[in-house]
Amino acid sequence: MSSWERNIRTTVPYTPGEQPKITNIIKLNTNENPYPPSQHVLEALEAVNLDQARRYPDPTAGKLVDAIAKYLGLPSDQVFVGVGSDDVLAMSFMTFFNSDKKILFPNITYSFYDVWADVYRIPYETKALKEDFSIDPEDYYGENGGIIFPNPNAPTGKLLATEAVEDIIRHNPDSVVIVDEAYIDFGGESVLPLISKYENLLVVQTFSKSRAMAGMRIGFAAGSRKLIKYLNDVKYSFNSYTMNAAAIEAGTASVEDEAYFREICEKIVNTRENAKKRFTSLGFSFPDSMANFLFVSHETVPARELFTALRAEGIIVRYFDKPGIDNYLRITIGTDEEMDKLFAFLETYLRRTTA
Ligand code: PMP
Repeated sequence: MSSWERNIRTTVPYTPGEQPKITNIIKLNTNENPYPPSQHVLEALEAVNLDQARRYPDPTAGKLVDAIAKYLGLPSDQVFVGVGSDDVLAMSFMTFFNSDKKILFPNITYSFYDVWADVYRIPYETKALKEDFSIDPEDYYGENGGIIFPNPNAPTGKLLATEAVEDIIRHNPDSVVIVDEAYIDFGGESVLPLISKYENLLVVQTFSKSRAMAGMRIGFAAGSRKLIKYLNDVKYSFNSYTMNAAAIEAGTASVEDEAYFREICEKIVNTRENAKKRFTSLGFSFPDSMANFLFVSHETVPARELFTALRAEGIIVRYFDKPGIDNYLRITIGTDEEMDKLFAFLETYLRRTTA
């Protein structure tokens, strides 16, 4: 190592799911929405005045913040927007996890949390999930530098009941608790109403999944005025113009089309519930997912083998080569047609290999 390299902030980066270049595949690996964004979003994007690209966007992204605040029934100074919830979460780690005490999160969870903790040099401790992959609130009672967990959790899809989430918050008046609700719109109950009760609760959501807008990169946080002010102070110390002009327009249009949002969420939930039955009948088991994916394990065929076989068939799913979950596949819920193809392949493959 050269002497200058000793001063470098080295880190092991997060590995995003693959975005294959080939097009005739069934892409069930990154929890994207199989449906297009709202027609209103497409129209808003077409109406963007490209000549205005020479101007900086509104640094406050006021139009989008106001639309989200109105939708949530909150004042605008309780909403923060960012470039996907990854940006919101990265800013939140930097802003709120700033003590010598360890932050806490589950041992099986979104694999970006330990990456942010490492890159910011935040000490952390992971808490083992229970046998059934559920979070035990009591694990989060002790002294800590902050708490974060997704609800539903990823990659398990398991939802923690609102009472249990509140139990964790109630036991932690001395640290900020972040609930990452990336997948909450697929049947879970958001803890957003609790932000008026707990000043130290930050709820983070995204437009990437339920609003079918992963490519536009929009996420947001809602919390007390104090939390949002602290978050904005840090944001403006890094980059004032995180949200580009087109994303501000597209995001606003999406929020204003609630009917379409509800329609596609409902379709995905129906497809998921149907998929649960089909996976069970094929010998798979899984935690009872309330997200837009299922985390499945087959009774006899190893996940790695299935992953490779599916891939050869042009069906891309996610496999995590990590202790405790290396016999599971995380499969995003696609359209009914995509799921039919998935199950047709699995039926044939399993009949052949388990015969
Ligand atoms: N939280 C969780 C639990 C996720 O799975 C994801 C998606 N990778 C994100 C946050 C970030 O999503 P985005 O940045 O697209 O909003």
